[in-house]
Amino acid sequence: MGVPNEQGCIFCSIVRKDSPAALVHEDQETLAFLDLFPLTRGHLLVVPRRHVDRLTDLPEGEYPGLLRAVSAVCRKVERLSTHYNVSMNQGALAGQIVFHLHVHVIPRYEGDNAFGRRPRERLSETEAAALLKELG
Ligand code: 5GP
Ligand code: ZN
Repeated sequence: MGVPNEQGCIFCSIVRKDSPAALVHEDQETLAFLDLFPLTRGHLLVVPRRHVDRLTDLPEGEYPGLLRAVSAVCRKVERLSTHYNVSMNQGALAGQIVFHLHVHVIPRYEGDNAFGRRPRERLSETEAAALLKELG
């Protein structure tokens, strides 16, 4: 750690536990939590603890840890749906808003219109609690 950008980074703040998040997975190198403005029910983010903007900035030695965490989170998401997207937005033009590397795991449901144009509702505390139970 120690990249200049980590100051003011919301995901670093979640990693430090300075900001709240509904955590579903935690290990030495990574953290996974519910997206605050989910595209579908159970939309999750997997982040390395280390602050880097994007995958190509992550030391290669940390690739396996990240992929292992993504897989563990996918296994949990399969309790909600066996259909899901695993994706990364790299760069503003690709839709990246938070410049701390993260992998989206987005459960898919029949007719969910996940990537359609519509306002994204903020995750409620009640829904987050229900999801944490279901995800185990
Ligand atoms: P990006 O567009 O950068 O790939 O995705 C960033 C994601 O982070 C978005 O889906 C957005 O809803 C989510 N997000 C932004 N701020 C917060 C936050 O403070 N907490 C959580 N849990 N998710 C956030
Ligand atoms: Zn960060």
